[in-house]
Amino acid sequence: MIRLQLAGCSGGIGGSGRQTTSYLLNDTVLIDAGTGLGTLSLEAMARIDHVVLTHAHLDHIACLPLLVDSVAAMRQAPLQVWALPEVIAILRAHIFNNQIWPDFTVIPDAAHPFLQLNALPADGLTLAGLHFAALPALHGIPACGYKVSSGNATLAFSGDTSDCAGFWEAVLALPTLTAVIVECSYPSTMASMADLSMHMHAGALAERLRALPTSTASVVIHRKPGFEEAIAAELSAALTGRDLRLPHPGEIYQFG
Ligand SMILES: [Zn+2]
Ligand SMILES: [Zn+2]
Repeated sequence: MIRLQLAGCSGGIGGSGRQTTSYLLNDTVLIDAGTGLGTLSLEAMARIDHVVLTHAHLDHIACLPLLVDSVAAMRQAPLQVWALPEVIAILRAHIFNNQIWPDFTVIPDAAHPFLQLNALPADGLTLAGLHFAALPALHGIPACGYKVSSGNATLAFSGDTSDCAGFWEAVLALPTLTAVIVECSYPSTMASMADLSMHMHAGALAERLRALPTSTASVVIHRKPGFEEAIAAELSAALTGRDLRLPHPGEIYQFG
């Protein structure tokens, strides 16, 4: 069973209905640490043992430095962060560098730090009974999606990406797929902006989702502020009869 709490699933901020990417899985593992993370209670934040990152763009890591600082005194063990090695290098150089934010990987001391930054093993890893493996993404910087499997459910997260053939090939090759959690930043009318920023637009996404088994749920996230309704209308019209979900931040799904 996978309990997926979409603490943040917007492509930007603006009012209480928009919080950026942060997904809590079974209460203890977080995918990305955008502003949605800040909506969780202090106790819920302290229960997070692992943060798995898709990439280092600010809308996906903005609350990670604040999380470490807020819960450090409440935790016995270091908070573990997992990401592609290139993403870990970016975090060390540009965030936890004692200029933007303290280097919590050596605070209070190197033997007992509040934070550990870890390169994701090439064959993935198991956290809290869930197996994580990276999936391809195309976003112009080091980035990936994730396949997350429990005993009876498999989810595929796209992360931020343009239309990535490798991601969809990997997804279609999975023996079982419960749900795909996929970004769609723009409607088709903004296709050139989507291409420029290496994001998906609704026309390209609808084509990809139509190729999936009808039993697969499609959870569409990362809609850019102001385009939510246009994306929803376009996808709803193109995917009638499908299990299409257009969540707002805070929604909780249970799979398996
Ligand atoms: Zn991004
Ligand atoms: Zn993003």
